[in-house]
This record gives sequence, C-alpha cells and structure tokens, in this order.
Amino acid sequence: MEKNWAGNVTYRATEIHHPATLVDLRSTVANAARIRALGTKHAFNELADTGGELVSLARMPREVEVDSDGAQVKVSAGLRYAEFSEDVDAKGFALPNLASLPHISVAGATATATHGSGSGNGSLSTSVAGLEIVTADGSLHMITRGDSEFDGAVVNLGALGVVASLTLDLVPAFEIRQYVHEGLPLGADILKVLDGAYSVSLFTDWSSDTINQVWVKQRTQDAEFVPDGTIPADGPRHPVPGMATENCTRQLGIPGRSFERLPHFRPEFTPSAGEELQTEFMVARHDAVAALQAVNEIRAHIHPVLQISEIRAIKADELWLSPHYRRDTVSIHFTWIADAAAVMPVVSMVGARLAEFDARPHWAKIFDIAPEVLQSRYERLQDFEDLAVELDPAGKFRNEFVSELFS
Ligand SMILES: Cc1cc2nc3c(=O)[nH]c(=O)nc-3n(C[C@H](O)[C@H](O)[C@H](O)COP(=O)(O)OP(=O)(O)OC[C@H]3O[C@@H](n4cnc5c(N)ncnc54)[C@H](O)[C@@H]3O)c2cc1C
Repeated sequence: MEKNWAGNVTYRATEIHHPATLVDLRSTVANAARIRALGTKHAFNELADTGGELVSLARMPREVEVDSDGAQVKVSAGLRYAEFSEDVDAKGFALPNLASLPHISVAGATATATHGSGSGNGSLSTSVAGLEIVTADGSLHMITRGDSEFDGAVVNLGALGVVASLTLDLVPAFEIRQYVHEGLPLGADILKVLDGAYSVSLFTDWSSDTINQVWVKQRTQDAEFVPDGTIPADGPRHPVPGMATENCTRQLGIPGRSFERLPHFRPEFTPSAGEELQTEFMVARHDAVAALQAVNEIRAHIHPVLQISEIRAIKADELWLSPHYRRDTVSIHFTWIADAAAVMPVVSMVGARLAEFDARPHWAKIFDIAPEVLQSRYERLQDFEDLAVELDPAGKFRNEFVSELFS
C-alpha cells in the first residue's frame, strides 16, 4: 500500500511501474488503459492518484546535460532538484529559483507550478523551456517554448502524458546570504518587506498581530535588507518553533551557493516538520494586504491546528494553469497539524474567507473549493482541456481530480 509523503493519501493504483529505460516507459504507457505519473509523492491531495496504474521515473537513467552556450540544462524528469543543482553550479550556472525543499522532482514541481519565492521570481515552472512527453500511444512529443501549446503544457497536472525530460533555463551562478529577522508587526508594509530582497518569506503562527520570522535571502552583491521594526535572530532558526535547526539551510548571513541557500531545508534531512498537511492560497498582489487581514480575523480558528504559515511573493507568468497566471501573486501557505478531521473545517473557512479575492489554491495541496468556482478562477482552463483532448483523446491520463476540474 503505497502512500504519499505526508501519509494522508493511499494510492489506489493496481500497479506501480518503475521503467528503467525510455523504451520501457513508452511501452508501459502504450500498454496501459489508464495511467498517471508519480513523482516524489509530495502532493498532499489525490492529484497523482488513480484507480488505474502509476508509473514512477525514479529508476530511469540520470540525465543532466548542461548547454553552456544556450544557458540551459536538460534533465530527466524524475530527478530531484538536489540531484543536479550542484552539477549545474559546477558549470558556472544556477537555476534562478528553487522550492523550499530540494527533495521534490522536477516534473512534479513544474506540473503543479510549485514556486520558489521573490517578487521578481516566477514559479519553478517558468524556468521550463521545453518538455519531452510520452503521450497516450507511447510516442514522444517535444514541446518547446514558442510552440502554440507550450504555455498550456508546462503546468499540466499530469493530464497530458508522462514527462520524460525537461529543459530548464539557467542564469549565471550566484551566491546568497540568508538572514532571519524576528518580530515584524502584521501592520507593517508587507509588500515592501516582500520586495526587500531576492527572496523573502514571512513565517507566522497567527497567534498574535506579529509575524514571527522574516527569512531574507539576498544576493551577496545586494545591500543588506533589514525590515523595519524587526530584530536579527541571534542564532539559526527553524520556521516551526522548537524544531531542529540543523534541518535548515545556513543562516546568519554566511554566504553560500544559491542552491545551498534558496531552499529552506537541506536535502540530507527531512524537510519541514515531517508530520503535517499543507494548504496554500494565492491572491493577487494588490489584494494581499486585505487578504492577510481577512485571515487574521479568523486566526483564533487557525492557530490551534497550525504548525506554521508562510507568506511570499511570486511574479506573474503566462502559463495557463498557473495560479500566478497574469497576476503578480502573494501566497499564503499553511502547514497544519497531521489531523485531517480537525484541519478540514479550518481549510474550508480560510477558502471561504479568501473567496472574495478569487484565491487560487495550490494544485498539490489540500483545498475545498467547488469545481465551478475553481473553473471561474482559471480563464484558460477550456484551452487546457482542449489540449488534453488533443494529446489524450481517450482520457488515459485523467483521474477523478482532473475529470472534476473539466466537468
Ligand atoms: C514538506 C513539503 C514542502 C513543500 N513546500 C512547497 C513549497 O515551498 N512551495 C510549493 O509550491 N509547494 C511545496 N510543496 C508541494 C510540492 O512541491 C508539490 O506537491 C509538488 O507537486 C511535488 O512534486 P512531486 O514530484 O513530489 O509530485 P507528486 O506528488 O508525485 O505528483 C504531483 C503531480 O505531478 C505529476 N507528475 C509527477 N511526475 C510527472 C511526470 N514525470 N510527468 C507528468 N506529470 C508528473 C503527477 O501526476 C501529479 O499530478 C511541498 C510539499 C511538501 C511535502
């Protein structure tokens, strides 16, 4: 009985395939009646699940091809970010951004618009320049930036086929200093703080009008940013009070390669708190202050079932199913305790409170929003469905999650 990382979803698949070659992968897909790709199993909901078959790329050959002239890297889709970031750095390049944990697969992260953070940084999906997808009949379909379907294909929820490899844009390697500052008043100019450095995350437990921690990740060449009214932490911090700080990337302003500082958590340790559920809502940047105020009004319900909340900014993009589609975004994330019965009513309450802001939920986390409401928040959903029908006419890659979205 295979479960997701959080242990709250037991996959119903009749079989989980582990092909070791592209030929095997293509025939596995071609021979299946219904199949979904499985990444590193970090989704908190039934997005990856299927009553058909699952295919994991974890045993596929490790491919990392840096094109120094084109400033791109081609990687096998099942690789975790931690498995190639250092190789890219050794060639003098970096990914412009990384997620808070480097343990997730590139295909799973980009299929769901998982983000790194920073007002000037897009989600991890925006680094994708091309994908090789195994489609329903087992053929290999290349989609490259500039192709008419590209903006629909990147954030694909696994509904177009099994992505076998991705080409990602790179930037010159860079270094980051990471600082933690404590005690930011919720009434502070939050947008100014989020804009203050390359990547900024605010952590709060919603126990008071004060944001507990501000994590500032600044490029070493940039001037030091200290948010007004905060006090520099006097030692390393974990976002969740009381958790071991050695799980976290180095702080206190010690410079390090970007891949060692942009994630919050170190690859060799269990990320985050281990036992948890997560929810995340994305609102337009211009609604962020009002949305945070709305959440603050129900904090007495949130705090008892919460481990920690994270607030960050993400730049708008053009990807059809991205929660950041054509809107600069502020995301409000919740790491809940691992008690679905206690947490779900609060998830619904937060979703209802943020409805007036057309909040878009993180695809891979827990939410409770009616399909027709969700559909109204994604103006390119019909285009995506058309693309899915074109590439997968029989619906081989659909599961209940995707079918409900298209209903
Ligand atoms: C502790 C923790 C911290 C997290 N922090 C963040 C965060 O900071 N920011 C954030 O945005 N998210 C975060 N997430 C969510 C996580 O990034 C997403 O759930 C992401 O989708 C995980 O990728 P995965 O490979 O584990 O996907 P899986 O759960 O395995 O799959 C997710 C989706 O991707 C599809 N998929 C996977 N591989 C392929 C493939 N080869 N081809 C086609 N489709 C594929 C699956 O079919 C499924 O639809 C966090 C999750 C955890 C557990």
